Amino acid sequence: MSYLDSVIERVKERHGSEPEFVQTVEEVLGSLKPVIDQHPEYEKVDLLGRMVEPDRMFSFRVVWQDDEGQYHTNIGYRVQFNGALGPYKGGIRFHPTVNQSVVKFLGFEQCFKNSMTGLPIGGGKGGSDFDPRGKSDDEIMRFCQSFISALYRYIGPDTDVPAGDMGVGAREVGFMYGQYRRLRGKFENGVFTGKGFSYGGSRVRPEATGYGAVYYLLNVLDHFGEDIKDKKIAISGFGNVAWGLCKKVQQLGGKVVTLAGPDGYIYDPDGISTEEKVEYMLEMRASGRDKVQDYADKFGVEFFPGEKPWINAEYDIAMPAAYQNEITIEEAKAMVEKGLEYYIEVANMPTTNEALNYLMENVKVVAPSKAVNAGGVAGSALEMSQNSLRLSWQAEEVDKQLKQIIDNIYQMSVDAAEEYGLGYNLVAGANIAGFVRLADAMMAQGVI
Ligand code: GLU
Repeated sequence: MSYLDSVIERVKERHGSEPEFVQTVEEVLGSLKPVIDQHPEYEKVDLLGRMVEPDRMFSFRVVWQDDEGQYHTNIGYRVQFNGALGPYKGGIRFHPTVNQSVVKFLGFEQCFKNSMTGLPIGGGKGGSDFDPRGKSDDEIMRFCQSFISALYRYIGPDTDVPAGDMGVGAREVGFMYGQYRRLRGKFENGVFTGKGFSYGGSRVRPEATGYGAVYYLLNVLDHFGEDIKDKKIAISGFGNVAWGLCKKVQQLGGKVVTLAGPDGYIYDPDGISTEEKVEYMLEMRASGRDKVQDYADKFGVEFFPGEKPWINAEYDIAMPAAYQNEITIEEAKAMVEKGLEYYIEVANMPTTNEALNYLMENVKVVAPSKAVNAGGVAGSALEMSQNSLRLSWQAEEVDKQLKQIIDNIYQMSVDAAEEYGLGYNLVAGANIAGFVRLADAMMAQGVI
């Protein structure tokens, strides 16, 4: 058995109870074969075996009191996956589906994503199975304070820098940073990114993930000589990432025709193409109702309860932007049947491996989330730079750097796949490009 396969087998044996983590390892390592074949020196120092095990991971109890005085206990997690490229960096997710496997898969992906940005950030991730839906501001604050009381000793501007993810936005980051500052007794605002602008947040960070996804898409369309204005884009989700994406597409004169939530999806044939519609997405999110139907009621478009857009809606570009494993083989087959050409992942691992392989064989372009959504963490790294310089850049400056980083990630992925004889393969190209920088740093730093 090859070295690569033996590492995958070992992960399956050891971590069989962590299906999402195993899935990611199989997907990422699976595409590294041509690289590993050319580098027999990796086996001697067990480079891959070390890469798939986190530097450390821990969980902790988070107790909080609701508005009625009742106490609740949740679990918090942080994985510090790989620190070879910089302080651990990655978001915190509050969602009932969070568990050790989910945090580990996100952390593993993060290492490759952060590597591709070319910036000095290692890979980390965290979260809790806490469900923020329907909670009051006070409840959210008490939860965030308790979460940070357990975590504050292990994070810091040069150690580990968390940020937002699903269920964690500027409000939660504010509560967490406030508690960190109180316990630490220092104004170390570089410990978090995604902060409010008044205390060190960056211009364009709120939009960065969505903008980055559109910049990536523009590169792909450009490669095929196509124009975003002629395309209908279907997305799922309607949170922060979806909002940034719609905002940029609207500025460019394109059309996002769907949004989806836990209650169903909406179809807007004119596209989410006015500022009013884009801004309304923020209101929908802030209401805490978690209902995408509100958009249909407000703008008089059709709502499809309990459905996702993928099978029945009409669109040219699919951009799943909700959560992991949303696209199974069933949706993938429906997409191929309707002649879909562009499948652009936005959420982390939105596609099962079976569906991903099927799509890669049957549609013109598949783009992987770790490259497409890297604008978020890249925006965070730019926030870290501004914090350490103790200044803040104008929106145009941040946006320009963000676009450069994404254009670079796209080009690196294309080049890496070409170099290893894989043609125009953005999925393998991203894995290889992310791997190569990380592997170089790990090789240089000795066996640790
Ligand atoms: N949660 C986002 C991601 O998955 C952002 C992480 C960050 O900004 O550190 O990349």
